[in-house]
Amino acid sequence: MGGGNANGLLQALSSVLGPCGFLTGEALRSRATSLWNSQPMSALAMARPKTTSEVSTVLRLCHEASQQVVVVGGGTGPVAGAEPTGDRIAISLERMNQIENIDPINASCVVQAGTSLQTVQEEAASHLMLFPLDLGARGSCTIGGNISTNAGGINVLRYGSMRGLVLGLEAVLPDGTIVSSMNKLLKNNAGFDLKQLFIGTEGTLGVVTRAVLRLFPQQPHRQTALIGLRGFDQVTQLLQLAKLKFGTMLSAYEVMWQSYLEEQLRFFNRRSPFVDRHAFYVIIETEGADSKLNETVITDTLEFAFNENIITDAVIAKSEQERRGIWDLRETLEPFLSDKPSFGYDVGVPIGDMPAYVKLVETNLTRRWPNSICYTMGHIADGNLHFFVKPGLKEALREDCDEDVYGALETFGGTISAEHGIGYEKRDWLLRTCSTEEIAMMRSLKNALDPKGILNPGCVFE
Ligand SMILES: Cc1cc2nc3c(=O)[nH]c(=O)nc-3n(C[C@H](O)[C@H](O)[C@H](O)COP(=O)(O)OP(=O)(O)OC[C@H]3O[C@@H](n4cnc5c(N)ncnc54)[C@H](O)[C@@H]3O)c2cc1C
Repeated sequence: MGGGNANGLLQALSSVLGPCGFLTGEALRSRATSLWNSQPMSALAMARPKTTSEVSTVLRLCHEASQQVVVVGGGTGPVAGAEPTGDRIAISLERMNQIENIDPINASCVVQAGTSLQTVQEEAASHLMLFPLDLGARGSCTIGGNISTNAGGINVLRYGSMRGLVLGLEAVLPDGTIVSSMNKLLKNNAGFDLKQLFIGTEGTLGVVTRAVLRLFPQQPHRQTALIGLRGFDQVTQLLQLAKLKFGTMLSAYEVMWQSYLEEQLRFFNRRSPFVDRHAFYVIIETEGADSKLNETVITDTLEFAFNENIITDAVIAKSEQERRGIWDLRETLEPFLSDKPSFGYDVGVPIGDMPAYVKLVETNLTRRWPNSICYTMGHIADGNLHFFVKPGLKEALREDCDEDVYGALETFGGTISAEHGIGYEKRDWLLRTCSTEEIAMMRSLKNALDPKGILNPGCVFE
């Protein structure tokens, strides 16, 4: 849209939202673009609505002016979906950060979309309830972002991804229409399940403003173990055993390749909890109501696995501090992001194919960049791997690395995104994961709900 119109729109937005609700100039520039991009935010302006009705007004005005907008949550998404360019208006839900209601009887809560994940977890815990979505960015990411990306994280194995944790939601369409689907029921087949349109669609179809989330009884006793294994066959054997022995008590099963854990130890100058090195490291977490049972099951199972030659060594956390120490080895990303260039990946591969896939990626990368190192870990029980590639060459290009990492997926029927989404970073690869018909249907939905293409334009597909 032209400058004259833009000025009129900016004035209208400013008067609707007031000084706290509308940022331009230095107030905007002093913010980083996202957690992954430290450049000053370059949007035309940032709208910070405080209510759904204000979100609706902002979108209606932008729609009338054909002004493009980008929805911004916590900015922790690694695919640049929430990074507005200079000609777009950012809409941040950061002032819509209230937990409206916790209902232990119905096992649900009503939250505003700008609330951080950690706030929801803590508020649920204060009612002896659990909101089970959990991931390393818990303190910064928002419920709106979690919904829009269908976030996964470390407890998918037990509780599913965000899609399964949303009972209902409220969203504002690009023309300002408010669609309230604040269902609280576990079963509701009345008509189309419209909330699904806004889960995992990365803010391309509407702005999520509020949600009804599922809660679970809090399990007061947790056991966390770090385990050393000599091969990937043992990793899958242990997973089978853990599923069998722990049943629904098993909440996390995370794997780190040797190079990943050793880089963490090196970077933070930490001592390994083990005397020997191991090819793979697994974090197992169980949770339950009975502390004795929880403890006995994990120690007996690990002892059995040791005697059966499945595991080589194991440590069990004896305090919350030790537990945090184990999780830090998996969740802290600093060692992998400190030297540039470094390229991060989120892919999905059937679990049985993981060793062959990782080998192929490493071979491709070494052929391209002889000094490259690939750090691998993942939520492997969900078929999800994450890589950090350090090419060992300053001029190395992300596009070349994509070719090696995503290109290798085709042999194994994998996906270019298990949980982070497509954003702007992966959209060129979407055609190699989805069929032409699937993409055409996505476009039809986008055109139906956003005919002017003002909302997160170019995100997921052009
Ligand atoms: C240390 C670390 C660990 C992580 N671990 C995991 C993990 O285990 N699993 C996982 O899935 N992800 C993980 N992530 C990625 C990220 O945290 C998730 O994708 C998260 O769900 C993004 O939430 P956000 O609020 O930061 O969204 P943003 O990054 O701000 O936005 C993400 C997308 O959602 C859209 N959006 C945001 N809010 C709304 C809204 N209210 N309505 C409509 N659209 C909206 C944006 O436009 C953008 O397209 C991790 C990130 C970090 C930094």
